[in-house]
Amino acid sequence: MDFISTRGKVEKTGFIRTFLMGLGDDGGLMLPTDIPAVPQEVFKQWEQLSYRDLMLEIFSYFTNGEIPREELKQLIDESYSGFRSPEVTPVKQIHDSLYVLELFHGPTFAFKDIALQFMGNLYSYVSRKENEIINILGATSGDTGAAAIQGVRGKEGIRICILHPHQKVSKVQELQMTTVDDENVLNLSVHGNFDDCQRIIKELFADVEYKNKYHLRAINSINFVRILAQTVYYFYAYFQISRRTQAEKISFSVPTGNFGNIFSAYLAKRMGLPIHRLVLATNENNILERFVKEGVYRPGDFRVTHSPSMDIQIASNFERYLYYLLDQNQEKVTSLMQQFQSEGQIVIDPQLLKKVQSDFSAHGVKNEECLQIISKYSGEYDYLADPHTACGIAAYEACCDKDEVCVTLATAHPAKFNESIQLCDISQKFPAEIQALFDKPQHMTVVENSKQEVAEQLKRFF
Ligand SMILES: *Cc1c(COP(=O)(O)O)cnc(C)c1O
Repeated sequence: MDFISTRGKVEKTGFIRTFLMGLGDDGGLMLPTDIPAVPQEVFKQWEQLSYRDLMLEIFSYFTNGEIPREELKQLIDESYSGFRSPEVTPVKQIHDSLYVLELFHGPTFAFKDIALQFMGNLYSYVSRKENEIINILGATSGDTGAAAIQGVRGKEGIRICILHPHQKVSKVQELQMTTVDDENVLNLSVHGNFDDCQRIIKELFADVEYKNKYHLRAINSINFVRILAQTVYYFYAYFQISRRTQAEKISFSVPTGNFGNIFSAYLAKRMGLPIHRLVLATNENNILERFVKEGVYRPGDFRVTHSPSMDIQIASNFERYLYYLLDQNQEKVTSLMQQFQSEGQIVIDPQLLKKVQSDFSAHGVKNEECLQIISKYSGEYDYLADPHTACGIAAYEACCDKDEVCVTLATAHPAKFNESIQLCDISQKFPAEIQALFDKPQHMTVVENSKQEVAEQLKRFF
């Protein structure tokens, strides 16, 4: 299988090159030329597999044998051995028609660990195999950075620099990133918001000469391997539930920021997994909700919410969906993205909007509603949801019909966002791993919202 860019100006390339490229060299996003359609008989076999074996099968469709099966298996086993649940992503029942898929049993207690533990090991593998220097550069709204740092800390041949918005991540997120004292880790705390961090990174990556000179590699969800790693739990959860319930309509509700996680769901669906409905849950930063409802993709005013990992105005994976929406027409994608650059919005016609609405339902969750959901599910079902998960549950309530079974993705452990849990008058006991962070010294450099200043820091570090 080959990989191409949504903008059509990158030569077809293989799996490992795609992994190393991250953002396409033409500014587009990398995707497989054809999404493999997995035959239903194969699903029958997959139903019985463990999480790790399932991942091995799914990846084998995409890796072209560039990683021998035994080595791939070893990479996968290493990546999930540190998870606190042997199932990796356990499914819990809340009531007859609602399940929660818990994605927070990795080292940093959020779903990003699932892809980034694997990517850390894969970078290390490629670095050894190809004698490559790997310098990872990423922006985070909190969880990606922590997970990426945990994925590569102390690994030989790899350095990592993560930008986060200064004092706009939760205390636990900040501690998870900055209490790491390995020499191969640099935290830059930027005076600005997440979109500022993301823009700086995108600009640095867009400079191909700079990117090659420093061997810059991406860990953000612009990397296709991250998207692919996240498809695994959709299959896993779907099979678990169809076995347990015989439900005919199984839907997923996905708390969404950069459109990464929900794009993974879309990919799983295009591979043939018969997902009934994909619910896109946003918070008050609801550009994606407005797009699904009105067909206009335009950033609004930035809002501070209880779910900071979704406080995103420009969803970096949106272009991947746009590519399929426009029937894989790379010229059209390029011109719409250029239009977005120059005019600040994309407007689609009513016919396309219909297609969008058949792909996704959407609900933007207000701050107040988010807290109400946390209180309600804690009181009625004894389930403590973190505020991101709560957005997913709220969107399930708003969008799903009675005859559907819905799986809401629990993207973080509530201890990561205790600030919001306290607002609901709920006190929780922290897991020991999180409690221990409060006693450790922090390491970070505060910088202005400026590409030059970031580049200056990188020159010293890389
Ligand atoms: C990153 C993140 C999200 C959003 O995921 P995207 O892939 O950016 O859509 C949701 N919840 C939590 C806890 C996250 O860390």
